[in-house]
Amino acid sequence: MSAADAVTDSLENLRARFIGVREGKPADYIPQLALADPDAFGLALVSMDGHRYSAGEADIPFTLQSVSKPFIYALALSVLGLDEVSRWVGAEPSGEAFNAISLEPGTGRPANAMVNAGAIVTTALIPDTPDEPAFDGILRCLGRFAGRELDVDEEVFSSESVTGDRNRALAYLIRSTGTMPVDPVLAVDRYFRQCAIRVTAVDLATMAATLAYGGVNPVTGEEVVSAEVAARVLAVMATCGMYDGSGDWLLRVGLPAKSGVSGGLIAVGPARFGVATYSPPLDATGGSVRGHAALETMSQRYGLHLMLNP
Ligand code: GLN
Repeated sequence: MSAADAVTDSLENLRARFIGVREGKPADYIPQLALADPDAFGLALVSMDGHRYSAGEADIPFTLQSVSKPFIYALALSVLGLDEVSRWVGAEPSGEAFNAISLEPGTGRPANAMVNAGAIVTTALIPDTPDEPAFDGILRCLGRFAGRELDVDEEVFSSESVTGDRNRALAYLIRSTGTMPVDPVLAVDRYFRQCAIRVTAVDLATMAATLAYGGVNPVTGEEVVSAEVAARVLAVMATCGMYDGSGDWLLRVGLPAKSGVSGGLIAVGPARFGVATYSPPLDATGGSVRGHAALETMSQRYGLHLMLNP
């Protein structure tokens, strides 16, 4: 068997092993997400030579949700630099749920850019430019990470927009602490739109692989962000990417990662690969049950834990 066949075979094997898992259920606090097929299970891996491997439903579209957060943080770091971004949003694990009121005592800054509070501020930091409105810049940047033009699922966007009072409340609370750079309504609207950008597991694996490859998309060869920015994003993903499950994830899986409530999950093997899974049923931390299980097994089977196998 060729090395390429072995990778595909291994993804198919992981899919077969966990497709029967019936725990968890798709998110329903955003009504449109509850319509997702609970049996869909796709896996994809992109290597540093730009090969894309996949198994199962790796080409069906779903929305980015919180998997957008590390990439918007990357864009903010690229545009504004670490010192300016850090004036608005911190880099400490909150140890709390994704939608918690994670604001630091004293500064009022959101704890980090991976929880909703910090992500809303990070999105709000992206400026309009003379050439394009901020959201167009966000969409274009995410497209460069994915290696193709992306679009917004308007139904998921409206569904979150009409039910997203908690995020709206968070945005107002943040403004009251003086750490909201734009109008809260505008910030949340842009954040919901970013969460509703449509991708596939193959896109996500390519985005993750771009972070793994020092900010260069290994499929298109384009430098999307600098190596320094990519490394900083991985640092925050490692400590905060899985919310209140981040410590346990780093302990067991040992890779920077990010989950989203539509069922997407990415993990990054620096200088080695980007991997992504899609499976909508979620656990208590808002992460994909099958994705979590598959990536934990993959890490153990191939010795991918960064601290166990430096
Ligand atoms: N759009 C979702 C929200 O803000 C994203 C949350 C997530 O994926 N964890 O609630």
